[in-house]
Amino acid sequence: MSNKLTVRDIDVAGKCVFCRVDFNVPLDGQRVADDSRMRASMPTLAVLVERKARVVLASHLGRPKGKPSPELSLRPVAARLTELLGAEVAFPGDSIGDAVRETRDRLRPGEVMLLENLRFHRGEEANDAEFAQQLAALAEVYVNDAFGTAHRAHASTVGVPERVKPAAAGLLMERELEQLGKLLSDPASPFVAILGGAKVSDKIELIQNLMPRVDVFLIGGGMAYTFLKAAMHPVGRSLLEEDRTTLAKALMERARRDGKDFVLPMDHVVTIDGADDRYRTTDNVDIMANEAGVDIGPRTIEQFVRRIRSARTVLWNGPVGRFEVETFSNGTRRVAEALAEASAITVLGGGDSVAAAQQFRVADRMTHVSTGGGAALEFLSGISLPGVEALQDAP
Ligand code: ADP
Ligand code: MG
Repeated sequence: MSNKLTVRDIDVAGKCVFCRVDFNVPLDGQRVADDSRMRASMPTLAVLVERKARVVLASHLGRPKGKPSPELSLRPVAARLTELLGAEVAFPGDSIGDAVRETRDRLRPGEVMLLENLRFHRGEEANDAEFAQQLAALAEVYVNDAFGTAHRAHASTVGVPERVKPAAAGLLMERELEQLGKLLSDPASPFVAILGGAKVSDKIELIQNLMPRVDVFLIGGGMAYTFLKAAMHPVGRSLLEEDRTTLAKALMERARRDGKDFVLPMDHVVTIDGADDRYRTTDNVDIMANEAGVDIGPRTIEQFVRRIRSARTVLWNGPVGRFEVETFSNGTRRVAEALAEASAITVLGGGDSVAAAQQFRVADRMTHVSTGGGAALEFLSGISLPGVEALQDAP
């Protein structure tokens, strides 16, 4: 359904393939603390290895700001990848230069090497022509499996595929485009979007782009208070973007005009006088001047769960409370569990919502959990992703 050329469509046997992956994993010293991002690209690597490509893998890790920084080396990732593949992964210790070329020259069909953190060079994030050319010179085929960085126009996501053809999507990239794409092109109705998180300003384009497609919006989290304020409810000290209330009001009016349900919290868990250990559940929508909303209340939870149960498609982006604090995590946990039990197609996007689903051990019960936080948000907001644009269309 994604209309991009994929790694399955191209001939890679004996060829050097530059494969951009998202191995931006959390490290614990010299160990990979969580290898889920690496495992997400194993299907693509399996195709390349089975079909006897000579595989040059490239990724960034953290934010080294254009210079080498030993604690952000991909060396531990190469070690973990050696274990996952059951075959030695060569690690030349840089992403360009003689050592890299020599390692590449020694690669036999079906063998894999991993370049050092791309962001050790300024040229990566600047999409510098010379840096991109040096990377491009390593390969005859380009594959991008790093959906999580597809919203960035960097050397490895845009500069290299401009210079190396064929330029194809990896299987993870393909799956992301397919699953997220279906939400925009052909969602089974009723389509329920649960939107939370901290700020309305982060999600305005998302709400606008979803408006024609979604039947029910369930709004929670910090951003709910800007909508509640716009609807003339007192929100106390809750997170509020005063300068967005006019826009929030316009969005609610548009939803009403278009016959959409736009559901705001009708009760809350609130902290008192700014102290996390003093809190209460409100009786109704109103919040006192010295209180701040930190989670949706029991009636809201019930309402959200009911809507999720009758949906055929559910998108969830943004926790509905400060779920990092145990006492304020109830709403987010109940939403996560309702999605896990739902018969609907369930798609999760957003770094913190995915972390929440993992914390509540329900991530594997979703139809799709996006690996791209910012990239997923931009895609669903209707913004085209440079790293996807750079790939060739399927014939
Ligand atoms: P995602 O990464 O899933 O897109 P966001 O980054 O938009 O989500 O928002 C996540 C953050 O929102 C979390 O750190 C959470 O604590 C915060 N949050 C949720 N509800 C509230 C609230 N009522 N008040 C303050 N912060 C909130
Ligand atoms: Mg976030």
